[in-house]
Amino acid sequence: MERKQFQAESKRLLEMMINSIYTKKEVFLRELLSNASDAIDKIYYKALTDDNLTFNKDDYYIKIVPNKENRTLTISDTGIGMTKEELETNLGTIAKSGSLAFKKENELKDGFDIIGQFGVGFYAAFMVADVVTVTSKALGSGQAYKWESEGADGYTIVEAEKDSVGTDIVLQIKANTEDDNYDEYLDEWTLRNIVKKYSDFIRYPIKMDVTKS
Ligand code: ADP
Ligand code: MG
Repeated sequence: MERKQFQAESKRLLEMMINSIYTKKEVFLRELLSNASDAIDKIYYKALTDDNLTFNKDDYYIKIVPNKENRTLTISDTGIGMTKEELETNLGTIAKSGSLAFKKENELKDGFDIIGQFGVGFYAAFMVADVVTVTSKALGSGQAYKWESEGADGYTIVEAEKDSVGTDIVLQIKANTEDDNYDEYLDEWTLRNIVKKYSDFIRYPIKMDVTKS
């Protein structure tokens, strides 16, 4: 008897996931913050195990920058970053968790803080964004790369400019519809409240620019 593998229609799977795993759209931010925190945890772990690396707590943080004019929301971290290959495997494969792999490789016990395990949270960004752009420079790599996707239609990866190690995720926030208000994800106070609600488990500072008006 021949054992066959299940086929998966990845476009449909992605759409299903984006639209039905989460009951609230705002949780996209929880997912991106937890990924950023994991990335910093990894660089922290590397520093613990590598004498050539130092970890100055002040250099490690997450930053959220809304821009109403451009309708972008940027989430940056000073974490471990991703190589071109990691962008490809971790963001190009649904249900692939680089964080789970990291925990296994380094034999980290459950007690360690790395949160990621299912490899789907990132795609929550597409609940609120038409385009997601991830620019990342990996620890130990001289070259940065830009991953970009409009969701189900796939993604591109090209070389990019980025000075420091870490990751910038830019969400091109959707236009409002009759049923959904997306403007709120560009609003400082709404963002502040969402962050407050979901960031208890994040041990690194989350910064946000205060716009004066
Ligand atoms: P999970 O967090 O459950 O692993 P995600 O879909 O949220 O799944 O993310 C997939 C993978 O992409 C992560 O495991 C990690 O390897 C990588 N990744 C996502 N965001 C970042 C980031 N900001 N910095 C570094 N790696 C990241
Ligand atoms: Mg995650």
